[in-house]
Amino acid sequence: MDDYDPESLPVDIALKKILGDIRPIESSETVNVRNALGRVLAGNIISNINVPSGTNSAMDGYAVFSSDLPAEGFRDLRIAGTAFAGRPYKEKLSPGECVRIMTGAIMPDGTDTVVIQEHAERSGNGIKIGTDTKAGANVRPAGEDIAAGDTILEKGKRLVPADIGLIASLGIGEVNVTRKLRVAFFSTGDELRSIGDVLEDGQIFDSNRYTLHGMLSRLGVDIIDMGVIRDVRTDLQSGFEKASMLADVLITTGGVSVGEADYVKEILENVGTVNFWKVAMKPGRPLAYGKIKDTCFFGLPGNPVSVMVTFYQFVQPALRYLMGENLTEPVIIKVLCKSGLKKRQGRVEYQRGILERDPSGQLIVHKTGLQGSGILRSMAQANCFIILPMESGNVEPDTLVDVQPFFGLV
Ligand code: AMP
Ligand code: MG
Repeated sequence: MDDYDPESLPVDIALKKILGDIRPIESSETVNVRNALGRVLAGNIISNINVPSGTNSAMDGYAVFSSDLPAEGFRDLRIAGTAFAGRPYKEKLSPGECVRIMTGAIMPDGTDTVVIQEHAERSGNGIKIGTDTKAGANVRPAGEDIAAGDTILEKGKRLVPADIGLIASLGIGEVNVTRKLRVAFFSTGDELRSIGDVLEDGQIFDSNRYTLHGMLSRLGVDIIDMGVIRDVRTDLQSGFEKASMLADVLITTGGVSVGEADYVKEILENVGTVNFWKVAMKPGRPLAYGKIKDTCFFGLPGNPVSVMVTFYQFVQPALRYLMGENLTEPVIIKVLCKSGLKKRQGRVEYQRGILERDPSGQLIVHKTGLQGSGILRSMAQANCFIILPMESGNVEPDTLVDVQPFFGLV
């Protein structure tokens, strides 16, 4: 029971405390619409055109005056010309005349109804129409899709490819987005070596900086990689001070537990303010949050899986919020779990899962094997977290569990 700790903060409270302490950045910049993918809108996008721009035909048929529609029986109309999409008919029409019209073509002046070709009997240069068409039928009014003045996308939207196309469809070439967030990070630990070094006993390659680099790249921030800092107080302190001058956010990994060489808390107290928490979660129990001057600080645990879980659950929403994004609730779905899961009560566990369909088409999840917080392979194999709530104990196979798909971030 060494993991149970009544003083640990619940996950949702910890996130609320973080979000309550930060303010979205206010400065923005104008970028070409093509380069706006993944950026966050700094203001609403308002259309200054109608889409469609002119009233046009929804069908292939004949554009007519509704006053020419017969109340009973039939009526003969003369075909004055043809209107194509992109090639309008521009002559003046008189009552008793109609225009052969294609889908998408602008309605000729005065006409307001399209008789579809199946309802018109053609003979030579004329048509005979009956009573099957209502006045105004088969016409798309200008601005039906988007009216000039409409807000199309709201401030705080992170732009996806559909948004980029939508903005282009309005003829808008430049958009105002929040400026990029500058995020610095470094790893701490005497045991860490760089790629290319030869490992001696007890040494490991630094992987946290690489996973962080990957996740931060996906979030579209400016990345400042400060390397590895040894467990030496003065070195760590100057790392913190340097980051506070360079970056909006500093993320460190390791050194936040209560071991002999865990100095992060002590140093943060010297150079800034610290909220040092144990969060009732696994992996990732120790988590430091604080400020060094105006720079937000996240002290993540050292274990590679803990880094990814705490990043996903806390740092990600915080960075999005700082970037000005309107946060939405994470997507969590109930899925049948085919594995038995070991779980202790009193903390939320984020076990790594594989979400897939069984042969009958039903969505199922199973765990990725060993769940130790140092086993990074479990993250590489997974495509989702299986989230087991505080009160849950062991889970029997074939139980419904909460699943949070990764959606590409990790
Ligand atoms: P710490 O919180 O510093 O005690 O680290 C917890 C565990 O994570 C230890 O086994 C460390 O060796 C390991 N660890 C810390 N930093 C890294 C890193 N950057 N890459 C890989 N493993 C790490
Ligand atoms: Mg350490």
